[in-house]
Amino acid sequence: MSNDWHKSTKAVHSGTKRSQFGEVSESIFMTQGFVYDSAEQAEARFESAGPDEFIYARYGNPTVAMFEERIAALEGTEDAFATASGMAAVNGAMMSLLKAGDHVVSARALFGSCLYIAEEILPRFGVEVTFVDGSDLSAWEAAIRPDTRAVFFESLSNPTLEFVDIAAVSKLAHAHGALVVCDNVFATPVYSKAVAQGADLVVYSATKHIDGQGRALGGVILGSRELIRKTVEPYMKHTGGSMSPFTAWIMLKGLETMRLRVREQTASALKIAQRLETHPNLSRVIYPGLHSHPQHDLAMVQMGAGGTMLAIEVKGGKEGSYKFLNTCTVGIISNNLGDAKTILTPPAFTTHQRLPQDQKDALGITPGLVRISVGLEDADDLIADFLQALS
Ligand SMILES: *Cc1c(COP(=O)(O)O)cnc(C)c1O
Repeated sequence: MSNDWHKSTKAVHSGTKRSQFGEVSESIFMTQGFVYDSAEQAEARFESAGPDEFIYARYGNPTVAMFEERIAALEGTEDAFATASGMAAVNGAMMSLLKAGDHVVSARALFGSCLYIAEEILPRFGVEVTFVDGSDLSAWEAAIRPDTRAVFFESLSNPTLEFVDIAAVSKLAHAHGALVVCDNVFATPVYSKAVAQGADLVVYSATKHIDGQGRALGGVILGSRELIRKTVEPYMKHTGGSMSPFTAWIMLKGLETMRLRVREQTASALKIAQRLETHPNLSRVIYPGLHSHPQHDLAMVQMGAGGTMLAIEVKGGKEGSYKFLNTCTVGIISNNLGDAKTILTPPAFTTHQRLPQDQKDALGITPGLVRISVGLEDADDLIADFLQALS
C-alpha cells in the first residue's frame, strides 16, 4: 500500500488483507473470536496484540480493520475506529475525551441525536456545554474558556447548509488547549480536508455517503493513532459500539465507488440548484455551490465543491411543501441522505419536528423548507420532475 497513491487508487486497494485463498473481493470474517496456536500465544496476544492479531470482534476484526485502514487512507489520518452507527461514533468521540468538570462548546445547529448527547447526556455526567451560532466566529471566541476540553460542530449544518469555519474555530480551540471534534457527514469524506484544517477527531455516519445505497448503519471516528488507540479505542471496545464485520464489508465496497457517486451527485446538485434558483414558486434555494450562498467562498476553500445536499423553500408554507413532496415522482420521501436515490425531507415536520418553535425560527427551519439529498438519477429527470411538481 502506498501513501503516494491518489485517492481513487486508495479507495479500491488501501487496507486490503488477503487470506491464503487470494480472494479478489474482500473477505467477510464473520467471526466473533480467533483461535490461538497455543496457550502461550493466547497469553502473548492478550498482553499486546500486533496489527494483524485479533482477540475478539468487539476489539477488532480483519474485515473491520480493512474498512478502518481504507477510510483512514482516504481521510489522510493515521488511524480510525469503526462503529455500529454514526451516533455510536459521535457518542464515542465525545465520551472518550470528556470527564466530569470539563467544558464543551458546541454549535447549536446539530442533527437531533447529536443535540441530545450535547444537551441531555453530557450535562448528566457533569460536563457543561455552551451552545453557539456555529457560523459566528466571535461567538466561538467568547464561549471558549481555559477549562474547555473540546469543541463540537457539524462542519456543514443540516438542513440549512451553514458552514462552520473549521480552520478558524480550530485555531481558537487549540489556543485554549481544547480538542476539535468535527462531524463531517454533510461535507462527505470526498471533499473533507478537516484534519489539515485543524480537526483532531473527524466523525462520519457511514450510513450516509460511505454506504450510499441505504443498506446499513455504520460510523467511524478518525484521528491520530495516539487519540484513536489510547483514548477512543478503550472506550469503544469496552462499551459495545463496534461495527459488525458484515457492515464493514458493505462499507468497504461502498468506499470503492464513493468518490464516483459523490462527485456525480454534486454535479447534479449544482445543476438542479442553478435551474431552480430563480423559480417563482420558491422563496429560497440554499446550495453552497451557488454564488448566492452567503458562505460560498468558505465552501470553496473548505470543501472545494458544493456537495450533494440542497434545500429549497416552497412558497405557501406547509401546504406548499407538502404539495411539492406529494407531486414529485422521482425523488422519494424519506430521511436518509447521501443515497443513490434522491431523497426529499420536510425537516420542520420530520427530522426537526421536536425542536421548539423559537429554535426552528433561529435555524431557519420553516414549514416550506424541503431538504433534497441528490441521488444518482439523471439530473434532467430530476429537474423535469421538480419543475412539474412546482408548477
Ligand atoms: C445521520 C447523521 C448522524 C447519525 O448517524 P447514524 O448512522 O444515523 O447513527 C450524525 N450526524 C449527522 C450530521 C448525520 O447526518
